[in-house]
Amino acid sequence: MLYQADGSGEIDHSFPSDNKLNNHFDVIIIGSGPAGYTASIYTSRAKLKTLIITGSLPGGQLMTTSEVENYPGFPNGIFGPELMINMKQQSERFGTVMITDEVKKVNFNVRPFEIYTESLMYTAESVLISTGATPRKLGIEPEQAFAGRGISYCATCDGPFFKDQQIVVVGGGDTALEEASFLTKFGKSVKIIHRRDYLRASKILQERAFENPKIEFVWNSSVVDIKGDKKISSIIVKDNKNGEEKKINVGGLFVAIGHEPNTSIFKGQIDMDDKGYVIVNNYTQTNVEGVFASGDVHDHRYRQAITAAGFGCMAALDIEKWLAEKKS
Ligand code: NAP
Repeated sequence: MLYQADGSGEIDHSFPSDNKLNNHFDVIIIGSGPAGYTASIYTSRAKLKTLIITGSLPGGQLMTTSEVENYPGFPNGIFGPELMINMKQQSERFGTVMITDEVKKVNFNVRPFEIYTESLMYTAESVLISTGATPRKLGIEPEQAFAGRGISYCATCDGPFFKDQQIVVVGGGDTALEEASFLTKFGKSVKIIHRRDYLRASKILQERAFENPKIEFVWNSSVVDIKGDKKISSIIVKDNKNGEEKKINVGGLFVAIGHEPNTSIFKGQIDMDDKGYVIVNNYTQTNVEGVFASGDVHDHRYRQAITAAGFGCMAALDIEKWLAEKKS
């Protein structure tokens, strides 16, 4: 069941006939991570005509991870892509329409709301923003090649895979320090590499990290190269003060230098904080009535598949209630 952006493609014949080829929906969900898919399972099951515009990588961040061990219900773990394909199929079972396309523009100043892809405009009574966030990258050439082969952007997700190995964490914020402390449970040693000689992280996390005998700091330094064969084996670290380079052997490299919420298309349309995260009130509502948000696009604290799914469920229930109240 896939509509193409040019209007061609398979049409969902389970839809009532007057809805065929109709681009108006009760709910349009932008983004297809755990938040978007979960929300769509609820809204479609509640008989709301639901469209997901998936983005260019249906399934979101979990499509690029390996095994997920902490999503409840899978005692032996599940691969990230498999989990997301399961969620997609579960959503399709209830009639969700999916298009694999990118939203280029939205207009929340009109009713119904207007959502534009490159070649089509869709309208909706309500919109859910679940576009997620993207981990900031180091920006060095081998980084992409070693993703999932020793480089990780989530210690909670991948830490247990690095038992008794030498671990490096890059960053100097709360996430880097929290992840480094967590990783000491698994790693033989944990080095924190930070580009300056002082930390942005909160004092309490700093104190904990300084007191932890398994954590060592490498100050004023940047990772400039990554070496390895099938998996990462070492990194080259440059001293930002004197330019000297040294090799550090490493089994796992955790990049914790912040996230960028995927919200550029909503600028000027809804309220965001100074970092670009959507501001929600009363759980999942944005400042525009009828526009909701769920998942990493507003939650920079938990950032887990299960919490995103939970927020997606909450948003769907809020949307159902809001649409019902609007009709009555
Ligand atoms: P952050 O506060 O933005 O910190 C990012 C860190 O990465 C900074 O130390 C920054 O260095 C460094 N960095 C940025 N770009 C870099 C690059 N290209 N190369 C090397 N280093 C780079 O991000 P975060 O730590 O993920 O935290 C995000 C938000 O969540 C914050 O508001 C934080 O307080 C919150 N948070 C809270 C908790 C908690 O309360 N327990 C836990 C996690 C996160 P500079 O310092 O030099 O800029």
